[in-house]
Amino acid sequence: MIRRGLVACGIVWSSAIVLLGATGVRAQGKLSPKWEELTAADFRLGIQQSKGTCLLPFGILEKHGPHLPLGTDLLNVRYASLQAVAMEYAILFPEYYFGQIFEAKHEPGTVAYSLELQLKLLQETTDEMARNGCKKIVIVNGHGGNTHLLPLFGQAQMDKPHDYVVYVLDGARSRPGGPVKRSAGIDYHAGENETANTMVSHPDLVHLDRAASESGADQKRLNLPEDVYTGIWWYARFPNHYSGDGSVAAKELGEWNMKNWIAAVVEAIRAAKADEQSLTIQNEFYEKSKHPLDTRP
Ligand SMILES: [Zn+2]
Repeated sequence: MIRRGLVACGIVWSSAIVLLGATGVRAQGKLSPKWEELTAADFRLGIQQSKGTCLLPFGILEKHGPHLPLGTDLLNVRYASLQAVAMEYAILFPEYYFGQIFEAKHEPGTVAYSLELQLKLLQETTDEMARNGCKKIVIVNGHGGNTHLLPLFGQAQMDKPHDYVVYVLDGARSRPGGPVKRSAGIDYHAGENETANTMVSHPDLVHLDRAASESGADQKRLNLPEDVYTGIWWYARFPNHYSGDGSVAAKELGEWNMKNWIAAVVEAIRAAKADEQSLTIQNEFYEKSKHPLDTRP
């Protein structure tokens, strides 16, 4: 789910990109960006070509209203990421959907791993990526339920020394402009934005005729101050795990959203490649943290 008016895309598929994605290894002399499609020797070349920059697109398996597939976030984040690495090469980690989704455990098809496993698996995944040369790892978040998890994970990298840098790109970004939305009000999950995005990424999986069969309205069942958080807030407001109105979605909005999302991923890849400071400063921090009494104010 993208709960803050996600974004999106519309990048033009070039035939070369399609060829590369379909055939994988070294189509037209280019390396596939997909980790699982590279040979061991080509993986080494890919690390060189990407300057050790790798993407970890992060999805989830959860209900998406009555009309979108369970893997909507995974499908859309991989679509945007694949388009981006075709424009700015980076190695793309395989399907990853082991995130925070406790709030949808009451719906069919949700896979909600424990918090301990989420953090351990993500740490071991980035550790393994780094051991294989991914010294700059950009986690591309496609799921609103990870909004708190991923900054926590990033901050936790300061606990122990790592020879790599984790960057987190929030998927929930919108930019001014674009087609006028047809729905009014909240559009957090499986609503007009996300439905439009999926019409671009996987139009065959969108059942628009079912989108109005459930309500995505805010049921406002809590009465708490805005600055007071409680975990049941999402279910209290959106018990159908649907927020917004997907029935009015049009592809043009999805193309706009995806175009901007892809541009943001490309920008993040380029920024990571150019970043000479983060690892140096991390190492300075790790060294000082071994003997804090010796540091000066
Ligand atoms: Zn979603």
